[in-house]
Amino acid sequence: MNEYKEQIAIFEETCRANGLKITHQRLEIYRALLESTAHPSAETLYKELVKGIPSLSLDTVYRTLATFEDLGLVTRVQTVQSQTRYEAQVVNHHHLICDKCKKIIDFQWQGFDDISVPETVNQLGRISSKNVTLKGICTDCLAKEESEVR
Ligand SMILES: [Zn+2]
Ligand SMILES: [Zn+2]
Repeated sequence: MNEYKEQIAIFEETCRANGLKITHQRLEIYRALLESTAHPSAETLYKELVKGIPSLSLDTVYRTLATFEDLGLVTRVQTVQSQTRYEAQVVNHHHLICDKCKKIIDFQWQGFDDISVPETVNQLGRISSKNVTLKGICTDCLAKEESEVR
């Protein structure tokens, strides 16, 4: 997984700097998030990982994700669902959430990124990130709709 060498190095550095032991389980949880584009929930991650790590528990996944979040290694994705979804993507991006299948799709929006926040917002405090969440219906679900009509 040379692709993620840099992120793994940052991960290990962050763990070391915070006195967090780099266990096999922690590394695998982080790697799984890096490799996924699906913004999985803790439950989804657990189901995937337990196949390779039978000693893993769902509780460990929950606690590990909370720790990673505190260290800024993973981000919680804002959704309207009750289940929290996570990602390890470090590059700034935005989300499209499908109303039908609840899929969360990453996209870039340079034009939006270039817009500075209104002065009235700046007066509310210091802004550290600005992200857009769009809602709609993904192309997969649209195609399904179309085939059902016919
Ligand atoms: Zn969909
Ligand atoms: Zn994302």
